[in-house]
Amino acid sequence: MHRRELLRSAMAAAAVSALPLKQAWAEDVQAISLDGNSITLNKADIRDFAGEIDGIVLKPDSAGYDIARQVWNRFWDRHPALIARCTSVDDVVTAVNFARSHRLLTAVRCGGHSMSGKSVCDGGLVIDLSYMNQVDIDVDQKVAHVEGGAQLGDMDRKALPLGLATTAGVVSHTGVGGLTLGGGMGRLQRRFGLAIDNVLGVEIVTADGKILTANAKENPDLYWGVRGGGGNFGIVTKFIFRLHSMNPMVINFGVRFPMAVAKDALKLYFDFSSGADEDLFILGGVSMREDGTGGVSIGGNYFGDPSNVDRVLKPLRDFGKATSDRVIPIEYVKIQRIADDGVNAPGKRRYAKGGFLREVNDDLITTLIERMEPMPSRSFSVGLLPMDGAPSRVGASDTVWAHRDASYNIDSTSTWAMDDTDVDEEIISWNRAYWKDVEPFTRGFYINQLIDEDQGQVNSNYGNNHARLVKVKNQYDPTNFFRLNANVRPTV
Ligand SMILES: Cc1cc2nc3c(=O)[nH]c(=O)nc-3n(C[C@H](O)[C@H](O)[C@H](O)COP(=O)(O)OP(=O)(O)OC[C@H]3O[C@@H](n4cnc5c(N)ncnc54)[C@H](O)[C@@H]3O)c2cc1C
Repeated sequence: MHRRELLRSAMAAAAVSALPLKQAWAEDVQAISLDGNSITLNKADIRDFAGEIDGIVLKPDSAGYDIARQVWNRFWDRHPALIARCTSVDDVVTAVNFARSHRLLTAVRCGGHSMSGKSVCDGGLVIDLSYMNQVDIDVDQKVAHVEGGAQLGDMDRKALPLGLATTAGVVSHTGVGGLTLGGGMGRLQRRFGLAIDNVLGVEIVTADGKILTANAKENPDLYWGVRGGGGNFGIVTKFIFRLHSMNPMVINFGVRFPMAVAKDALKLYFDFSSGADEDLFILGGVSMREDGTGGVSIGGNYFGDPSNVDRVLKPLRDFGKATSDRVIPIEYVKIQRIADDGVNAPGKRRYAKGGFLREVNDDLITTLIERMEPMPSRSFSVGLLPMDGAPSRVGASDTVWAHRDASYNIDSTSTWAMDDTDVDEEIISWNRAYWKDVEPFTRGFYINQLIDEDQGQVNSNYGNNHARLVKVKNQYDPTNFFRLNANVRPTV
């Protein structure tokens, strides 16, 4: 058993032993219904529910509840009525049936990295999949079977030593569940497409408590819907991913430029990344620290023949004004963890806006740089990721991801201390004002970067795929049981 799995089992065992069952369910629990009304969950019903699942049911006075309700973005401090930490697909079915029979507001949690905190809710049930993190690799078929609560690192640790990989995100503690269902961008996307472009099928528990298989042959509409439609249609308990052969060693590179040359450096990033070799992963970023220092960074990986690297990176080197410059060969499995700490570590407050750029011009570059301002209480960064290559070769209605013609994904993120609630309003207003100037250069946004967009924006973001999504929603979730997401509203 891997250390992380061991830790999780130990935590589960500790939580179970801290729950003397006779006392644990001595009281009814106040909760919130799907419609937002107050309801009472009867203690006998909760006891039966807790007895039926192999995992654990936590309520507010249970040991481990306060840790289990924490999510990556500590801006969200929500208190669910119950948290069901499931260990199997049968547990998930039981949890869905319990919630449905009580019309209980329900959130679904995998890695807990939703920026908008959608995987935890006040007064509802959290169906927590994080113990369901098993990964099995079929080397001959080049396929991974991944449970719906796994983190990206769980998958990489199994697949990469076998010389196999698929597109996954850049931070290993992100959940496979949320990342994949929303689309899934990552280091290998220009070669192999988005995560959804590599999903061959899923096992899914729908709102009526049924366990369904969805793939190109079985329930094809549902298969289409889960590839980019988020958690709208059910709880995915297993993903089947296509894997690709992968050289375990890659080149990691990064250059950083001071703010004094930020506009030119950003132009260099766009020139360098636009139409670049598909063996390159190229992130761009402008960041500003609390004290006003910062700069432009261009970094990434080269997956091609290492003997080409000097030629491929020459434009970056020739620019000349870098304050730091690194090119190192490194194992890909390490790269997949290299960004896990620092600004990406859990435990801070965040606010971010994001969108897709259609074109890049000098006005955009001027706006991105000139609107930046230091603020004593927070750091701020803008991230850029090219969307060309394999993702752009998939049709806009082949999956739910309608933004196949985007040139870059862009996000603007503010990060501040967990307890610094006094500055929330100031920071969020500033970020929104910055984004107001950037937004005209974008069209649509990545649903996994949903933050405070209204229902009209969510609907139009699905573009021409919205009508078909509503049909699939009507069929599989007509009561909108799964609503804490970039919601597709049913019409029945
Ligand atoms: C540090 C960090 C790095 C990131 N890097 C990337 C990146 O490289 N590429 C990228 O594309 N995105 C990235 N993201 C965005 C990420 O894709 C979303 O935050 C995503 O929602 C995270 O998934 P999760 O399972 O961790 O989140 P959770 O908060 O657990 O889940 C988010 C939502 O997904 C749904 N969901 C999750 N699992 C399931 C399931 N098994 N079945 C049904 N519904 C489910 C639920 O609706 C839930 O509310 C990053 C986010 C963070 C915080």
